[in-house]
Amino acid sequence: MKTIGLIGGMSWESSLEYYRIINEEIKKRLGGFHSAKCLMYSVDFAEIERLQHRGEWDQLTWILSQVAVRLEAGGADFLVLCTNTMHKVAPALEAAVNIPLLHIADPTAERIKACEIKKVGLLGTRFTMEDDFYRGRLEKKHGLEVLVPEEDDRKLIHQVIYYELCDGNLQEESRRKFRTVIEKLAQAGAQGVILGCTEIGLLVKQKDSPLPIFDTTIIHAEAAVDYALS
Ligand code: GLU
Repeated sequence: MKTIGLIGGMSWESSLEYYRIINEEIKKRLGGFHSAKCLMYSVDFAEIERLQHRGEWDQLTWILSQVAVRLEAGGADFLVLCTNTMHKVAPALEAAVNIPLLHIADPTAERIKACEIKKVGLLGTRFTMEDDFYRGRLEKKHGLEVLVPEEDDRKLIHQVIYYELCDGNLQEESRRKFRTVIEKLAQAGAQGVILGCTEIGLLVKQKDSPLPIFDTTIIHAEAAVDYALS
């Protein structure tokens, strides 16, 4: 079994899910007392969030590159970055180490394609919904057509992620608002929706969505187990 190097803490609410899913999955596949070999470096999210909203991506790149180097030195065989947003700096992390990074968008796209879905909605932070690093990868590398909510809805989702979900605060009212946004994506032609932020799945489950959901936390954690056991 390979050792998984988890870059976590963004937020710890979702890193907890990664740790749980990865261990449950290893136990399911190997049985008995089996559990995952892994290291997690969990950052201080206050520092990360401040730099994100100031647009200081060079500083963020430096911080996460140092984390990647430490995980490699600690014995990780590959890296799993437990956030969609921070994949904005994925190429720099890959350049900083000699071990692979399991990019969150790739197993997500594979699942979507396996369902024969071509047009998919994307929910996440405004960095994930608006910048090219994520949509671009889904479109150019995987040939998917990606729809994002309109501006007011993007703002709403971004705020719920940072002010509620990353703070462990799950509100029924916000769940209803997510449902409305997903309904609009369906009307625009989306055949499925990516929960492209690792905390959204804490609030929105399949029963809350009129479209099939692709929860990046679950998909990424399961892909990590596939790779660890390959
Ligand atoms: N966990 C979130 C994501 O998947 C947002 C927190 C962050 O900015 O890293 O994008």
